[in-house]
Amino acid sequence: MNLAQFPRRGYVKEATPIEFLPNFSKALGGKVNVYIKRDDLLPGTSGGNKTRKLDFCIADALAKGADTIITCGAVQSNHCRLTLSWAVKEGLDCYLVLEERVKNSYKPEASGNNFLFRLLGVKGITVVPGGSDMMGEMGKVAEKLKAEGKKPYIVPGGASNALGALGYVGCMEEIMHQMFIQGLTFDHMVVPSGSAGTHAGIIAGMIGNNINIPVTGIGVNRPKAVQQEAVHKLANQALDLIGVEQRVPADKVIAFDDYVGPGYSLPTDAMVEAVKLLARTEGILLDPVYSGKAMSGLIDLVRKGYFREGSNILFLHTGGSPALYAYLDCFGN
Ligand SMILES: *Cc1c(COP(=O)(O)O)cnc(C)c1O
Repeated sequence: MNLAQFPRRGYVKEATPIEFLPNFSKALGGKVNVYIKRDDLLPGTSGGNKTRKLDFCIADALAKGADTIITCGAVQSNHCRLTLSWAVKEGLDCYLVLEERVKNSYKPEASGNNFLFRLLGVKGITVVPGGSDMMGEMGKVAEKLKAEGKKPYIVPGGASNALGALGYVGCMEEIMHQMFIQGLTFDHMVVPSGSAGTHAGIIAGMIGNNINIPVTGIGVNRPKAVQQEAVHKLANQALDLIGVEQRVPADKVIAFDDYVGPGYSLPTDAMVEAVKLLARTEGILLDPVYSGKAMSGLIDLVRKGYFREGSNILFLHTGGSPALYAYLDCFGN
């Protein structure tokens, strides 16, 4: 597998740390050893997983002569914040289409990522109702910009196409190298599963490199079967793009939907517990929409005895902490 054949912008210059979480593991009863992959510390405004994907997608945009980036996400989208951040860095204009997945959730004056959209100088925001055809909506913005003489490039939601997923194939190779250098073995990996590129890239990286560590995805939005299908399809597309003929066995793709709660981005008690526990044992911030819910899944699975006693578990921290500032009410403020 040769990822170096794909143009990148070099946003990821060094490996993000893998850290042991001794206090957190102890707080969960000491039955398992929890480690964390700190992708929350990736470069780009406030860090997070989209940087690895955008490293490939923005390179593609520049190769195609784009001067403007259009992307989409929810009203507190980390992906939108990071796409905008890298567009700024590259001297590109950036337009966002925001989906109100929760009715009336867009507040122009909101804090968190929404505040950062404006601080970073977004060129335009279009708000559309939940369930809209996001590709179609971004296409409309693109047509308007083309008529003005601009050269827009559309990055799909979450940068979760095959090209973006390569970012997490690269992450899996990085983890493999760190395991070797640090003398670590992992018995299990736990990853958040949203627009699917992260989860799919990790799985494709495992298959392509013949690594057999079980991966458990924690869904934040869609029902289990739908999410697993999306991850499975995208992982195979990523393997096609790299030129790996092997297919992903369907039973390697697990994405639990038990931790979504009432819906995407809506808080759960277990999320609040997970965010507080990691903050108060290790000083690490999760987020309310993705990594907090994913960690609530890990906590529940540890308590249920899902992982063998004494096993080493690697949790992928995908970032998102700016969204905490839009959720002060949930944390007793
Ligand atoms: C986008 C996002 C995810 C989910 O990653 P996908 O590749 O969309 O599945 C997880 N955590 C954070 C903080 C995110 O912003």
